[in-house]
Amino acid sequence: MMLTRNFLMALSIALTALVLPEFSVGATRTSDKPNFIVIFIDDQGYQDLGCFGSPNIKTPNIDRMAGEGLRFTDFYSAAQVCTPSRAALLTGCYPERVGNLPVLFPNQRRGLNPQETTIAEMLKGNGYKTACIGKWHLGHLKAFLPTSQGFDSYFGIPYSNDMWLDPNMTLAQDVVLREGVTMDDYRTKRKNSVPLMRNTEVIEYPADQNLLTQRYTSEALAFIEANKANPFFLYLPHTMPHVPLYASPEFEGQSDAGLYGDCIEEIDWSMGEILAALKRLGIDKNTLVVYTSDNGPWDFPNNAKNKVKGNTQRRVGGSALPLRGYKFQTWEGGMREPTVMWWPGHIAAGQECHEIAGTIDLLPTFASLSGSPLPDKTIDGKSLVSLLRNPSSTLSPHDAYFYRTKGVRSGQWKLIDGKLYDLASDIAESTDLSQEHPEVKARLTTLLEERNQEIKQNGRQAGAQ
Ligand code: MG
Repeated sequence: MMLTRNFLMALSIALTALVLPEFSVGATRTSDKPNFIVIFIDDQGYQDLGCFGSPNIKTPNIDRMAGEGLRFTDFYSAAQVCTPSRAALLTGCYPERVGNLPVLFPNQRRGLNPQETTIAEMLKGNGYKTACIGKWHLGHLKAFLPTSQGFDSYFGIPYSNDMWLDPNMTLAQDVVLREGVTMDDYRTKRKNSVPLMRNTEVIEYPADQNLLTQRYTSEALAFIEANKANPFFLYLPHTMPHVPLYASPEFEGQSDAGLYGDCIEEIDWSMGEILAALKRLGIDKNTLVVYTSDNGPWDFPNNAKNKVKGNTQRRVGGSALPLRGYKFQTWEGGMREPTVMWWPGHIAAGQECHEIAGTIDLLPTFASLSGSPLPDKTIDGKSLVSLLRNPSSTLSPHDAYFYRTKGVRSGQWKLIDGKLYDLASDIAESTDLSQEHPEVKARLTTLLEERNQEIKQNGRQAGAQ
């Protein structure tokens, strides 16, 4: 009898091994599709994590995540500012292909074109539950909000936290008006304070920015708990550490790196809460978690905006060292991001990837891992599945990676604004090698010109109302 049962169990395990693909998940769920969580930080410097060399910001949870997963040293956002970098992440396209949106402000009537296919729409069509929790910044009018772009729900601020409200936005019945603001103020006065939204309505004005990271975390944990038995996509674009900086009372004044450090350390706490919840719920091996940022840090206190807006304590930027440059710039410091991917049992622990990859690759990577059809239009991203499996022996899927329309990287070489740098020996982009390597410069110049021409011909329109 025992022999028979053991034999059947062995047979069952053998058959399961034959049937399940390499990236399969546990048997307790009703689906074999993995969950995806994307944590997208706002304006974080390349150095501002322990595992990326910060001398004074402590991030034990993200460091552990890197120790259990894969740290990317050459991972790029597709833009040096907020709006286009978000358009790229969600569509798998360079921002120039999807309308080349600039940073959007509350008086603008533009946004990510609803005709584009977002990661959320792609996965929702394949049975996923989807949520956006955090800063959106792809259009605050109803047609452009997350709930019109594939997300089942939305909680967060509609654009940057140094912006104001559009008085035409819809107020919730039970909207909370804070800091002495009246309904009349809301409709008639422009205040330099950002609203907090749920789905398509303003639920709080001004948003209590001290508590945003905590509230995003609570919302994220509730979403994960509610969807533990089905596949989900959680997009969590934090508001911090975009200026003005705010941290909760538990974190303010606690770091060795000022309020900026407090913000990062609170985000690290949030990351720890999320990873712990995945383990507690037994879905850690079913969930790929990505941590990255939208663009480099502010050049404060050197940036002139710091001087005119006052309150220097809340206007502090991070460090992109050893990279050159900051937010707004196409130097490495403006677009190369500190990135970690974590998926116990599927991504081997303690690895590093030095190949070129970027946020545009998330959509095709998730498509491959979930068996979802790709959008029926041209995208620029490439699947990173091979890199995730074998980061030390797989080459980048990108022969060329573009810095807006200004530059291109191919292997170790970067051409930017007509100058040539060898990133392998000169990560700080200090020495122009155009004279020494004219053939490399010519090759990269052709790559950039041909690509800019192609995207000029085939680029699509942004959304407008
Ligand atoms: Mg940003």
